[in-house]
Amino acid sequence: MGRSVRVTVWNEYRHERSEHHPACKIYPEGIHGAIAKGLRVESDFEVRTATLDEPEHGLTDEVLANTDVLTWWGHAAHGEVRDEIVAKVHQRVLEGMGLIVLHSGHFAKIFRSLMGTTCDLKWREGNDHERLWVVEPGHPITCGLGEYIDMGPEEMYGERFDIPAPETLVFVSWFSGGEIFRSGCCYTRGRGKIFYFRPGHETYPTYYNDDVRRVITNAVRWANPTNGPVPTFGNTQPLEK
Ligand code: ZN
Repeated sequence: MGRSVRVTVWNEYRHERSEHHPACKIYPEGIHGAIAKGLRVESDFEVRTATLDEPEHGLTDEVLANTDVLTWWGHAAHGEVRDEIVAKVHQRVLEGMGLIVLHSGHFAKIFRSLMGTTCDLKWREGNDHERLWVVEPGHPITCGLGEYIDMGPEEMYGERFDIPAPETLVFVSWFSGGEIFRSGCCYTRGRGKIFYFRPGHETYPTYYNDDVRRVITNAVRWANPTNGPVPTFGNTQPLEK
């Protein structure tokens, strides 16, 4: 048995605390609570949560140094995430920490800074039916899934999604309104692996869906840092005489 995977589930945690917001009823323990619960089923995962309104957004140096994979959900308060914390998360990704960016996290400062593009997209809250097609069935993130995930009603995200071309595109969503979307996108930045996964609008119980939980669990395993060599940089002497 290998060492455990240390996962930190980060959430903005604002909608769920506002009494009249639908998310309050759907996620009484917060979106992070639902995601963490799905991950804690795995006996080798060590899962903690962190939220925006904790000191340093719950992402202290100690927490970041002891996180193998960070998951990120944010929506209404991207602008309140402090730049110096974003810079620290960015640095940890370059060092090898995995990052799973969920749904409206497409506009998070950390995702935009790692992508270098606007990460903008089309959207509509109209109970569109979403079906996520697996387009890379050999990829570890699809382990245990069928040919597609039937999400039922969800918020629509449509192309153009202004991201760099993914290194691997794992899912493509179809929406009943006619749009399509690149819903599962893999990247590498430095030593770190990044996975963007689309579903998860706060007014739907998406993070209780077994297939969604399976994808997030698989993505954590995929993004878990490997024990590869640490490169050296700068002026260097020849190895051969
Ligand atoms: Zn949304």
